[in-house]
Amino acid sequence: GRHQANDPRPSHFEYNGVRFGQDNLNIFAGLCAVDNPEHVEQMMKVLRDNGQVCTRMGAYKPRTNPYAFQGHGKDCLPYVFELAGKYGIKVIAMEITHESHMAEIFEALHQTGDPTGVMLQIGTRNTQNFELLKIVGRQQRFPVLLKRGFGITLDESLNAAEYLASEGNRKVVFGLRGMKTNMGDPHRNLVDFAHVPVVKRLTRMPVCIDPSHSVGTRAAGPDGMLDIAHVVAQGVIAGANMILVDFHPNPASALVDGPQALTLPELPYFLEDVAIAREAY
Ligand code: PEP
Repeated sequence: GRHQANDPRPSHFEYNGVRFGQDNLNIFAGLCAVDNPEHVEQMMKVLRDNGQVCTRMGAYKPRTNPYAFQGHGKDCLPYVFELAGKYGIKVIAMEITHESHMAEIFEALHQTGDPTGVMLQIGTRNTQNFELLKIVGRQQRFPVLLKRGFGITLDESLNAAEYLASEGNRKVVFGLRGMKTNMGDPHRNLVDFAHVPVVKRLTRMPVCIDPSHSVGTRAAGPDGMLDIAHVVAQGVIAGANMILVDFHPNPASALVDGPQALTLPELPYFLEDVAIAREAY
């Protein structure tokens, strides 16, 4: 079981030339939702100019409101993958909500000549979608980012990760993205980054933090703090191994979660803050 200290499973893995492990840190800055090729290209370019080889790109968006933008789905994959290749991106974290999305990603990668890699993301609304977990766990091609369920216990979320591993996929990163509470928190979700070392102690998985979905707003908090920057520092000092963070060339026009997206000129400052926090870890 995963609680055994002598678990022989490796605590790191390589994918498409990128190393994921409990002892290093990968940054996935990118678009919560792909909207058009121009914004994708602007994002990819700023990443390359800042030495980044990973990104996040949302094509399939699980939305609370059925009338809200649902993501471009498979239609955007060809240009997302081609532009990733053009700008040297090695791994794109991309959420899927159905097994058919995995097949569409597989097919689009093939059609575009495999210019990049994809890490399949299972979102907080699907943490306990056991049939999806089994199907994603049965394939070895793609590593998986599993988000913690926002309203279930940590143990239940770790069991969800075990579904992936027990089906054979051991390339799993565990993501903290804040918990839903109804207590008038200043943030969109209760930030749970103090659990980074807990998950690292209990499991062999690298741990990801998602400051964007945890905090929910780019604007200064009620007491004037730059909350996203602060929670990132907290998570990195706690030992986070991956950061998933929303950026957008023009947050006011973003189709999903614009208020929490950082702007492209902020990327170098963000990376500098992360580097300083990592020094303190
Ligand atoms: C996301 O990362 O785009 C997302 C929807 O996250 P979560 O599943 O944590 O809400």
